[in-house]
Amino acid sequence: MDSAAFEQIAFDALDALPPKLRAAIRDVQIVIEERPTGRNARRKGLLLGLYEGIPLTAPDRDYSGKLPDKITLYREHIEAYARSEEEIPFVIRETVWHEVGHFFGLDHDRIRRMEKRWQEKRRE
Ligand SMILES: [Zn+2]
Repeated sequence: MDSAAFEQIAFDALDALPPKLRAAIRDVQIVIEERPTGRNARRKGLLLGLYEGIPLTAPDRDYSGKLPDKITLYREHIEAYARSEEEIPFVIRETVWHEVGHFFGLDHDRIRRMEKRWQEKRRE
């Protein structure tokens, strides 16, 4: 999949969120990289994406003088994780939503439960 199409699917995934959520994440930047670097390159398994920033629920959240929150998608890992070419868009979308979950301060238990529902839905 070419990078323009990949990026478009990622942005569409944000737009597909309910309007109230969508409005809250206006300041989040989406960045696409081929693979993790530095500390994250040494993580085990396929790291699909990364959220960096201060979750909305953090008590000391204050934007003044801070960089915008950032969601990074790792293209090679997402493509390797997908079982087929057709599955890549689903994996992109679910990775974006996973990282958005972190932005909203959800823990992995909550996020995993949501992901299970999405995965069941896409198999229907
Ligand atoms: Zn996570």
